Amino acid sequence: MREQNFCFPEQQRACLTITPSLYDRRALDCTAPLPLLTSLMHLSLMTSSSQRVREALSVDGGLERLTHILETTSRADYPDRRSAWRWILAYHCLVNVGVRGSEQIRARVERSGGVRVIIHVLESYLKTLESVDTAAPSPSSSSMHDCHHASHSHHHHHHSHSLAADTLDEPPFREEDILLALQLLAYLSKHPSIRDRLHANYPINVFTLVERFCARHHSNTIHLWAGVVMRNGCRKDDTRGGLRRCAYLHCGRWESRPHEFAKCRRCRKAKYCSKQCQSHAWADGHRYWCVPRQPTSSASTSGNGATASTATATNAAATGNAHPLNTTTT
Ligand SMILES: [Zn+2]
Ligand SMILES: [Zn+2]
Repeated sequence: MREQNFCFPEQQRACLTITPSLYDRRALDCTAPLPLLTSLMHLSLMTSSSQRVREALSVDGGLERLTHILETTSRADYPDRRSAWRWILAYHCLVNVGVRGSEQIRARVERSGGVRVIIHVLESYLKTLESVDTAAPSPSSSSMHDCHHASHSHHHHHHSHSLAADTLDEPPFREEDILLALQLLAYLSKHPSIRDRLHANYPINVFTLVERFCARHHSNTIHLWAGVVMRNGCRKDDTRGGLRRCAYLHCGRWESRPHEFAKCRRCRKAKYCSKQCQSHAWADGHRYWCVPRQPTSSASTSGNGATASTATATNAAATGNAHPLNTTTT
């Protein structure tokens, strides 16, 4: 795989690249910007189409390499944008592997630092929104919460440009980045063992962070995917005999026997160990993702645990895209 064009004498070796048909782990170690960019571009396509490539990345240190690229690449080198693209492509690779991978591969995505990257993306985005809110005069910031998606993103766009230039080293993350982050978490959080780690293995409870994206001022799609993650967080754990934990995130107590805790009557998803936990949780943000249960859909999906749980995130997403949760049209 030696290519004359990609020879860099100062490195005293040829740069390998990943081609549309050949994955080579070593190409990700290449430090020359253009060959690496080419590799990531091809890899982002392969990670969406090839189970073998996703498997390879999960065992050959490729995932660790991707998260390293994501954590060390500055997204700020305008105008040449090469490293901004490197970041975006590596991000797509990571999300593809997690969304399309098996449970085992998803566990590797979490272990390799993928969730650390996601937390950074989500936290930075919220920080940007907050600084936009405080920078904007109050009438416009309050209208921002009421207006719909199109005008909201216009608003945000306008402010974020001046912010990027004035106060931030790196451009703010885009809504697409947030959407991919939440989608990845929606797939990771389907699995009880990964879910536990999302609760407890990071400086912040990942569900607490995601709950902030359920608030109404986010776009419908963000709101929808954040809701999928939150509802996954309430699923029973079949590896613990079907027990659930208290859905008040600051409590998180486990049931000692199945059906011990009472369900939220409205959504019938969240369960609480006490009335106090329920009211704290409602105030914290459950009110933003509590969706009244549809009697028709629950009848058709309940009862077949394993298959239903594999399909839930995608089903919910498909339904939600067609019928955004906070509009009145159906
Ligand atoms: Zn509780
Ligand atoms: Zn509820």
